[in-house]
Amino acid sequence: MYEIGHFIGGKRVAGKSGREANVFNPATGEVQATVALADANELNAAIENAKAAQPAWGATNPQKRARVLMKFVDLLHRDMDKLAEALSREHGKTLPDAKGDVIRGLEVAEFCIGAPHLLKGEFTEGAGPGIDIHSVRQPLGVVAGITPFNFPAMIPMWKFCPAIAAGNAFILKPSERDPSVPMMLAELMLEAGLPAGILNVVNGDKEAVDGILDHPDIQAVGFVGSTAIAEYVYSRGCANGKRVQCFGGAKNHMLIMPDADLDQAVDALIGAGYGAAGERCMAVSVAVPVGEETANRLMDKLIPRVENLKIAPYTAGDDADFGPLVTKDAHARVKGYVDKGIEEGAKLVVDGRDFSMQGYENGYFIGGCLFDNVTRDMSIYKEEIFGPVLSVVRAKTYEEGLDLAMSHEYGNGVAIFTRDGDAARDFAARINIGMVGINVPIPVPLAYYTFGGWKRSGFGDLNQHGPDAFRFYTRTKTITSRWPSGIKDGAEFVIPTMS
Ligand code: NAD
Repeated sequence: MYEIGHFIGGKRVAGKSGREANVFNPATGEVQATVALADANELNAAIENAKAAQPAWGATNPQKRARVLMKFVDLLHRDMDKLAEALSREHGKTLPDAKGDVIRGLEVAEFCIGAPHLLKGEFTEGAGPGIDIHSVRQPLGVVAGITPFNFPAMIPMWKFCPAIAAGNAFILKPSERDPSVPMMLAELMLEAGLPAGILNVVNGDKEAVDGILDHPDIQAVGFVGSTAIAEYVYSRGCANGKRVQCFGGAKNHMLIMPDADLDQAVDALIGAGYGAAGERCMAVSVAVPVGEETANRLMDKLIPRVENLKIAPYTAGDDADFGPLVTKDAHARVKGYVDKGIEEGAKLVVDGRDFSMQGYENGYFIGGCLFDNVTRDMSIYKEEIFGPVLSVVRAKTYEEGLDLAMSHEYGNGVAIFTRDGDAARDFAARINIGMVGINVPIPVPLAYYTFGGWKRSGFGDLNQHGPDAFRFYTRTKTITSRWPSGIKDGAEFVIPTMS
């Protein structure tokens, strides 16, 4: 058993609110830790530390700030095994996948080393007689990030790296289900040279989130999680006059055209549908083969692959395809969806509900499930399951498949598998979804592009990482200056124009 408090003012502090939550080992179902749940006093302490530290950090030249991230990247490499182990222990994902989680965050830290360039403003010389105009990007002050359980390394880094590189102080409220890694990341940032108070980790639940949303000294909030909470955070944060961006749930479709390389498509569906037990916002959860013949050929290849998925705790080594779900509730929810799919008339062709492992009978394991003949009206199609459950919806034509993906309320990611460049190009141009893969099942953009969904997968104007992150965590100031050297026009009562 271990206890996780908060990271405030450059050190770990114990929780004082008297409220805490259990952190489970998903492979065994045992409570392995407790995490403090912050109240307003603890949140205020973090904000006070952040407020005190931010002006000096904001005034530090951007190259020096970038050097902290350079060092942080080195430290992430040094501690990769330790971070991955702590991540797998609380989340349940396999060790190689946990390393991937750290690396995708590390790549954003690398991108943020370019902050001096990304923060440059614009300049116009001679905009009028003796007049120059320039713009600068300034930090907002104290900003916050609220993050989900499924990427406890990557998503916190997506949030705090650009915010801090831009000169802000940051309050991170990570998921209470796997809080160890965010705390370790804060310690590494300190070791990398970040002044105390610039990155604070406040663990907690709704109380801490509401505190962040209502606190007048927090200027901006970046959120990632389920759509219902994303919408809530967006409206409450905006109502309080904050800058807010929220990224929500998903139902990612993958169209398989008749001319696709089916072996490649099946590999893609297996990895993207079942990797991390389907607990990814970019997981493929709907396969859409186009044409009956494509569907039949696809199912012949897909079924044995799903039947032979290897499921094991992370301690089993590199041999597992995926591990347990994160909590008992998640396990019950996913099983409940599979039951409901059967009731609603879908054909369950691979049933993983009874999967059990000797020695891990109380773990939150579920085997891969595969549904055929899923239709638009079923809840397993409409709702995000967030588990290792793939639904096959057969489309007669390309247009029907396209319409399916376009009509869904979520718009995070989508993919098409085809050898036809015309179809691929048409698909990319017409689809109303934020991230598109062409023969790529999980099109998560690299750190120097931005990540964000459309429709009910994203709320707000700007995306995460890439140049948008620097726009989100800074504000633009435009300065018009005149050095008159003898120009005297007298008093002007009419608004100045260029005519
Ligand atoms: P979640 O919505 O339960 O929790 C996210 C955060 O909100 C956590 O920090 C949690 O403590 C907080 N929270 C939970 N309930 C709250 C409430 N009632 N009021 C205020 N705050 C609350 O999400 P999760 O289960 O941790 O993560 C999985 C979800 O996140 C999935 O829906 C997945 O698709 C989504 N996700 C989206 C993206 C993306 O970029 N679009 C990326 C990763 C995960």
